Amino acid sequence: MNDPKYHLDTLAIHAGQPPDPVTGAIMTPIYQTSTYVQAAPAEHKGYEYSRTDNPTRTALQECVAALEGGQYGLAFASGLAAIDTIMRLFNPGDHVIVGNDVYGGTYRLFERVYRRYGLTFSWVDLADLDSVRAAIRPETRLLWLETPTNPMMRLADIAGLVETVRGHPILVAVDSTFCSPAIQQPLRLGADIVMHSSTKYLGGHSDAVGGVIALNNEEIYTQLKFLQNAVGAVPGPMDCFLVLRGLKTLGVRIERHSQNALQIAQFLEDHPAVQQVIYPGLESHPQYALARQQMRFPGGMISILLDTPEAGRRMVTRTKLFALAESLGGVESLIEHPYSMTHASTATSDIAVPKTLVRLSVGIENVEDLLNDLREALS
Ligand SMILES: *Cc1c(COP(=O)(O)O)cnc(C)c1O
Repeated sequence: MNDPKYHLDTLAIHAGQPPDPVTGAIMTPIYQTSTYVQAAPAEHKGYEYSRTDNPTRTALQECVAALEGGQYGLAFASGLAAIDTIMRLFNPGDHVIVGNDVYGGTYRLFERVYRRYGLTFSWVDLADLDSVRAAIRPETRLLWLETPTNPMMRLADIAGLVETVRGHPILVAVDSTFCSPAIQQPLRLGADIVMHSSTKYLGGHSDAVGGVIALNNEEIYTQLKFLQNAVGAVPGPMDCFLVLRGLKTLGVRIERHSQNALQIAQFLEDHPAVQQVIYPGLESHPQYALARQQMRFPGGMISILLDTPEAGRRMVTRTKLFALAESLGGVESLIEHPYSMTHASTATSDIAVPKTLVRLSVGIENVEDLLNDLREALS
């Protein structure tokens, strides 16, 4: 079922999810249990306690690993819990290079939590490989990147960055939340760890919060597996089931998200009220060539710049189908104002986002309905 000969669309439906051996149930059961009966003390080889392992979580972990082309998968209670667990691989004094345009919660975790534990961070423009090279120190242990970034939609050249840090004891971890493995598979480009907020495209239905990691290195997997149990930020079986359920349609959803988003990006690019559209599927994107090379689809996320912050406020409160909400990647379209919403924690920092920026998460509704909604909101 996990055979890499299968295409992603097939793995999404079958990997880690053989029919239930007891009943033949085709859907993975929700093993809503905290503990497991053992035959004899200390000899048990199977499941023991659900923080350590749970069969519904195992199915999700195996499925995610297969989709990313990884040997190992791990699931967590949220995307941030997954990032937090990765950060616990490191020690006081270790240095991290991180893109200067990241998810606000990642910035907050690094600067407001991990800095207190003696980690240091350099925030650099990852599109400029020379500045990455210049940021490397003897104590650098991690390069953390998002691509495309949230919300500025800048791309990082994963293979190029892997090459840039080669020969140094630096792990490359990619937050691939904006893409999902249907668009890019960072492990195949040489990254050590890929991470997702499964709250977004993997779950895809705005009904569960979760995070996942996939990787190939057995030693790092063993450490992360230890930390997953030792720290304990695990998802419950119901949430694992919901993400597994969502994953089955990942391929068709991403294709439709991308088709809708491309049409909407083209419409917005021609609209007089819109100053700039930032979307990897448009030729006007400064890294369009890299997007073509690295991404199978341009994805469902679009950022636009309007003339004034007031115009942005007006737009996000006037759409009817595009709901004003944080988060992204669900079947329903969302719109938001990053400066005051998702990225408020960076507002006073060096990496603040423009006040005139509006971010769209394009859903899989009928595209004409979505276009009309935006046309009316901008009129
Ligand atoms: C949402 C998000 C996260 C955090 O995930 P949660 O599930 O909300 O904890 C991390 N990175 C990116 C790019 C995100 O969009």
